[in-house]
Amino acid sequence: MTAGLAQVQTLLERLVAFDTVSRNSNLELIDFVRHWLARYGVASHLVTSDDGEKANLLATVGPMVPGGVVLSGHTDVVPVDGQRWSSDPFRLTERNGRLYGRGTCDMKCFLAIALALVPEMRGLKRPVHLAFSYDEEIGCRGAPGLIEAIRVRLPPPAAVIVGEPTGMDVVSAHKGIAVLRTVVTGHEAHSSQTHRGVSAVTTAARLIAHLDDLARHRAVAGPFAAAIEPPQTTIHVGTVHGGTAVNIISRECRFEWDIRAIAEDPPEPIVEAFRRHCAERVEPGMKRIAPGCSVATKVLVEAPPLAHEQANPALELACRLAGVDTTTQVPFAAEAGLFQRAGLASVICGPGSIEQAHQPDEYITLEQVQAGLEFQRRLIAALC
Ligand SMILES: [Zn+2]
Repeated sequence: MTAGLAQVQTLLERLVAFDTVSRNSNLELIDFVRHWLARYGVASHLVTSDDGEKANLLATVGPMVPGGVVLSGHTDVVPVDGQRWSSDPFRLTERNGRLYGRGTCDMKCFLAIALALVPEMRGLKRPVHLAFSYDEEIGCRGAPGLIEAIRVRLPPPAAVIVGEPTGMDVVSAHKGIAVLRTVVTGHEAHSSQTHRGVSAVTTAARLIAHLDDLARHRAVAGPFAAAIEPPQTTIHVGTVHGGTAVNIISRECRFEWDIRAIAEDPPEPIVEAFRRHCAERVEPGMKRIAPGCSVATKVLVEAPPLAHEQANPALELACRLAGVDTTTQVPFAAEAGLFQRAGLASVICGPGSIEQAHQPDEYITLEQVQAGLEFQRRLIAALC
């Protein structure tokens, strides 16, 4: 039997119905996938999270030989809280040639296509490895365990295709991300006694302005990765919380920020320079008034960039399958950088548009589903 749009749609409907927002367990979805694969005699290996609430799934279709291709996708989705949806986000709804639902484009459709094609993978001479992860949306937390399992359990694959929505463009590079939290501890006093206190809020404001200066400097001076928009490493403060009352000099202020880094301008030196700035230029003045004052910065999440490589077999393969001869680069973070760091040739190429990802009324067009289906079908043919 040949899988068509209808079958992909049925599978996508099932996958979307599992509320796998990253804060929830993904085990029911994983169980569904495991059973689906078992129907075709394909065994799954699960890599469970420390708390046992989530799992990555790794499954090989075809012979256990080197030179296979990993199809990589994440099972979690972003929340729908506070978003206005025209229909139930967890019920696949077709309207005007589009399939609506959370995760339709980012990125359960890619998973649904791979699953729908498993029955067609009988004659494989080289294997297709399915690698489905958890917690991608909150900092690629599942992928390292999955990549370790690939390294230990599989004969070396030739390429990894990460199916994030690129509109079937072939993406050769993406930015990395570091998410940080800075906590400023000041010294409380009556707000009439500004000489006796150390304001955490004011100190934080100065530090935020300092980070903004670093960001603006990079926008002008680089370094630049010309193919990514924007081309420089960006630094952005997303939240600030601090202070108790207008008449109290604030004791605590915390802010969270991220660095989205090109390969040529990684986050580590930026974080180190920021910490040094705090230790040498900010804390001494605070401590002169109250020794307990401090500024502490913690890296919450980190994922490396995917660096563009001239000779990348994954890139060649994806271009051939997609029928294109140009590649693009993207500013969002993905798991491909982690695969590359593990020594695996990696590329991003998947159906759907990043414009619809994370949005209310997220959708994928039937045209993109078809394009994704044809891409993976050509992959199977190439491996037969
Ligand atoms: Zn995604």
